[in-house]
Amino acid sequence: MVDFEAIREEFPILNQRIHGHPLVYLDSAATSQKPQCVIDAESEFYRTINAGVHRGAHELAARSTTAFEEARAKVARLVGANYEEGREEVVVTAGATAGLNLLATAFGNASLGRGGEAAKRFALGPGDEIVVSEAEHHSVLLPFQELAARTGATFKWIGLTEDGRVRTDNLDEVITERTKVVAVTHVGNTTGAITDIAPIIRRTHEVGGVFVLDACQSVPHLKVDFHALDVDFAAWSAHKMYGPTGVGFLYGRRELLEALPPASFGGSMVELAWMDKPAQYMEPPARFEAGTQPVAQVVAAGVAAEWLMNIGMENLEAHERTIAAELLKLGDIDGIRILGPNENENRIGTVAFDVKGVHPHDVGQFIDAQGIAIRVGHHCAQPVHRHFGLFASNRASSGIYNSVDDAKALIEAASRVRAFFKAE
Ligand code: PMP
Repeated sequence: MVDFEAIREEFPILNQRIHGHPLVYLDSAATSQKPQCVIDAESEFYRTINAGVHRGAHELAARSTTAFEEARAKVARLVGANYEEGREEVVVTAGATAGLNLLATAFGNASLGRGGEAAKRFALGPGDEIVVSEAEHHSVLLPFQELAARTGATFKWIGLTEDGRVRTDNLDEVITERTKVVAVTHVGNTTGAITDIAPIIRRTHEVGGVFVLDACQSVPHLKVDFHALDVDFAAWSAHKMYGPTGVGFLYGRRELLEALPPASFGGSMVELAWMDKPAQYMEPPARFEAGTQPVAQVVAAGVAAEWLMNIGMENLEAHERTIAAELLKLGDIDGIRILGPNENENRIGTVAFDVKGVHPHDVGQFIDAQGIAIRVGHHCAQPVHRHFGLFASNRASSGIYNSVDDAKALIEAASRVRAFFKAE
């Protein structure tokens, strides 16, 4: 039995009062708080090891390299990826947005003929198709929309069911023999819905396409195994999985990473560079890690990954389900509508809601006055909001440190909002 109350105590930031109330943090979909072990790992690195990686003959550089590569291995283990030297499948990025842009840029480079024969499988041109879903965060939508504009490919999308799930009933129509890339979110950052990705991946592979998963909202909440899921690429951020800001990861199936041309150029990614000949790039993951890496943050992200594995993602999943069940009671409040599935099946504890007659900013402030942090706005997912006939919403999202009492506090505050604002 995992003691989640004790786990909450590991988060120093939560031990404070906001507007006179104990802080209730329900904004983990935006960013999670950090346990003491992660905070310590970063400062310990600076106190004892700090040095650039993969360079230099001195002892600190060697220790720093070991710590960096061990962190990569821990993160890889969390998501079921390879980490043995020469077979690594996890690339360090500056975050999910950077990872998705890396991919879109690399596919664009392949479309220009870069990367040779091996990269042709990623090349796009007029008549080819890129498919996303209507549930996407702008970090997926925009890089792939831009890629379509740059290559002349057709941009298409899979629609949503009434309650905001990615549809799977018309995949044969949307994903066709001309589809080269399909990019879909694992969990909607607004709806909290877990996408039924298996049929989408199957169909993508059936037509010879590459499947990209936005794993931002799944890795911190669910047990994921990219090999078992058979995804080709996946991007996520460390800061939502109890790790530091400024760093994220891109998973790529080894053979695909080996075929992918680089997207960013500079130091530490090249074997040989000349004035008068093209450079010879390194093997992955180094090929995609140009420039000095955020080593302290990667090391701390590795600590976060290990900490999560020690707790057990299945245990975390079960814990957050109890909170999701309570948060879903928001939908029982008169005048409140949930944007996403109402049932506690195939969803996580991210619950966006609309309060009839009250602007989300007013809702957010009223809730904040009770010491409860939720998100308001469009959560970088405008098409999802349009699907529900809105521009913005309120969003409560759970993390490992939340309790059912936190959700109850939100329900209590939310039930008073409309009366306070005299909403019609
Ligand atoms: N995709 C999803 C589903 C997200 O929730 C987020 C974070 N809001 C992102 C992508 C982008 O992540 P980041 O801002 O950390 O790059």
